[in-house]
Amino acid sequence: KYTGPGYEKVWRIRSEHLLKNAPTYYKKPLLIHEGNMQWLFDHRGRRYLDMFGGIVTVSVGHCHPKVVEAAEEQMKSLWHTTNIYLHPKLYEYAEKLLSTLPKKLQVAYFVNSGSEANDIAMLLARLHTGSYDIISFCNAYHGMSMGAMALTAMCTWKHAVPSAFGVHHAMNPDVYRGVWGGAHCRDSPIQTVRECSCTPGECAASEQYYGQLEEVFKYSLPRGRIAGIFAESIQGIGGTVQFPKGLLKKAKELVKSNGGIYIADEVQTGFGRTGEHFWGFEMHGVEPDIVTMAKGMGNGFPLAAVVTTPEIASKAEQALHFSTFGGNPVASAVGLAVLEVIKEEKLQQRSHDVGTYLLQQLAGLRDKFECVGDVRGKGLMIGVEMVEDKDSRRPLPAKSFLDVWEDCKDMGLLLGRGGLSGNVFRIKPPMCITKADADFTIAVLEKALCKFTEKRERLLH
Ligand code: PMP
Repeated sequence: KYTGPGYEKVWRIRSEHLLKNAPTYYKKPLLIHEGNMQWLFDHRGRRYLDMFGGIVTVSVGHCHPKVVEAAEEQMKSLWHTTNIYLHPKLYEYAEKLLSTLPKKLQVAYFVNSGSEANDIAMLLARLHTGSYDIISFCNAYHGMSMGAMALTAMCTWKHAVPSAFGVHHAMNPDVYRGVWGGAHCRDSPIQTVRECSCTPGECAASEQYYGQLEEVFKYSLPRGRIAGIFAESIQGIGGTVQFPKGLLKKAKELVKSNGGIYIADEVQTGFGRTGEHFWGFEMHGVEPDIVTMAKGMGNGFPLAAVVTTPEIASKAEQALHFSTFGGNPVASAVGLAVLEVIKEEKLQQRSHDVGTYLLQQLAGLRDKFECVGDVRGKGLMIGVEMVEDKDSRRPLPAKSFLDVWEDCKDMGLLLGRGGLSGNVFRIKPPMCITKADADFTIAVLEKALCKFTEKRERLLH
């Protein structure tokens, strides 16, 4: 039972005293006061199925008992030492975390957010290569610190002040909306509806986007001087955009041959989310030089890391570097428990099984409704792109999108929103969801889409 301050009071404090440019969801944002696995509860005691996991952050379930217990136990003995002393949890955790990564990635640096991790990755790339320029893809989201903001390439997240310089954006290799179509990296259970001229094992669009990347080298970069390229393994905030088969692998080779390194931003795609693999980069057949991670790593507890090779890490030793809270005992205990739960409860496998089932069901909705343009993703990293109609692919206007979204919420289903035009439903729930939750999601979404379609037809006739 909710006993906190009333809704109106909370809303007033938010409106008057908190920064307003942080987005809120829904006409009247929910006042959530409790979470339990895949469920959230509002102040009126209403239960919602959380199919967005607080932006892909709740990986194993809200207040998962094992994670809660680990945090509580640690809190009773030691919270904080600023890492100027040794404390066991951090080392136990580091060893376990590193065992999930390619062998060459053996040095971890723990911080508190994905943006911070990406800033440090930029620094490492520059120190290691002695070059300054960095590439990221258009439509990428890598964070909001001054460095990460420069990597982020969506006007919706840009302010009219200079962010870090030396960052260049390559064309967004979007197989649905991009100019060349293409096939997703590896075979997804759902192929994009866009016709493409790929032969088995090859993707024509991949070649075209590769050509665009070469243009960035040709026109924007000092010859042979690149520090690195950042890529999300599937773009998250950008609307679950999957890259054409083979592109990231070739991009890495191009960057390496020009002296740079490859940085995989696994903030959303890591920790089993994509189902088939523990890390998103694995589906691209790429071995990164640096991996950044956050979000699901702590199941909602602030915890992030940069992992790299001993050689790259050694370049950072020329000066001190420090994070007050990074790798604190409580965060380490939480991180360790999250890894254990993913393994014990086979959540990566579940992500694959339930995710694939959900993708297939969603493809049914795509085939049924004119306004569902594309269904894509892997495991429990799913996007449903809403359009005016399938031929034009014009993004569904915000008002219409919000109608469907709001209706789903009223029926007890929370979905995420993303894409540059805000027209993509993002489905990235805690990985503990079941097939019954997937069925509920489909039933609610179908009902909301029927209602929307009927309303639209009534207006047209
Ligand atoms: N990278 C990606 C792919 C993200 O989605 C985000 C956050 N949405 C970040 C980096 C930044 O993480 P944080 O908000 O923890 O700074």
